[in-house]
Amino acid sequence: MFDSLSVKLDRAIKTLKGQGKISEINVASTIKEIRRALVEADVNYKVAKEVTDGIKEKALGRDVLIAVSPGQLLTKIVHEELTSLMGGSQADINITGDPAVILISGLQGSGKTTFTGKLANRLKKQGRQVLLVACDIYRPAAIDQLKVLGEQVGVEVYAEPENKNALQIAQNGIAQAKKTGKKIVIVDTAGRLAVDDQMMAEIEGLKKSLKPTETLFVVDSMTGQDAVNTAKTFNERLNFDGVVLTKLDGDTRGGAALSIRAVVDKPIKFISTGEKMDAIDLFHPDRMAQRILG
Ligand code: GDP
Repeated sequence: MFDSLSVKLDRAIKTLKGQGKISEINVASTIKEIRRALVEADVNYKVAKEVTDGIKEKALGRDVLIAVSPGQLLTKIVHEELTSLMGGSQADINITGDPAVILISGLQGSGKTTFTGKLANRLKKQGRQVLLVACDIYRPAAIDQLKVLGEQVGVEVYAEPENKNALQIAQNGIAQAKKTGKKIVIVDTAGRLAVDDQMMAEIEGLKKSLKPTETLFVVDSMTGQDAVNTAKTFNERLNFDGVVLTKLDGDTRGGAALSIRAVVDKPIKFISTGEKMDAIDLFHPDRMAQRILG
């Protein structure tokens, strides 16, 4: 494993000791160190460069108080910059509508179906009436998986295993929700192992026709740099409302959060931290900044 950014900062700023101000010359090597550490934490190189340029600007000329070491000051500046780049405060989802429709998108294996179950569980615990709709028409196992999760969390699942028209299933599901007084419909969609035009066209069509109140893009935080490219492609086609970062219980440093936010400029709304139905949390930019800092 590698040293945490905080440790690296401590080491790199040894040269700053005894200086009254942070200057262009004495900060240069530290900035380089921060950039390298961000890239090691899976932050996209271009994003890491932008971030460190911003940090440099903020750091230059700042008085180093006698009580605070330059290292602490820089760590604080880095933490603030990362937090603010990831949106500052947390963002929840929009669930107004009758019913509110939440469309879940993402690649196969990203944790879409698991997250769909978790979100239903979370909303149910908040006292909402939820209906899950299984629109993965290519993998019968995905329908069964959603049914199992629905049963586990006590939320009804609408499915039409014989129907190969995802839009029709979703529309029928929404009609069913209206009939049975469910206020929130969560639509789980098909994913592929890589971005593919047919899948994109299908989910694009779902979004256009269903006009969801919230379209979420689910991405595996362990996929590092690939996560950014996938996010970019999905956003170009779907103009989604928010990101769900999964598998953060792994040992990833979470740099994907920073890169995705910087590249698609959409808030990260939830994180997923395990396979259990309660392993879901709102995204906290300050906590993620801390994690990236290590
Ligand atoms: P989908 O194909 O996008 O619907 O992905 P699934 O929801 O089926 O998830 C793929 C695999 O990842 C399954 O084995 C899940 O149990 C697992 N998984 C999903 N979310 C998480 C998570 O946050 N942490 C961990 N460790 N595993 C997860």
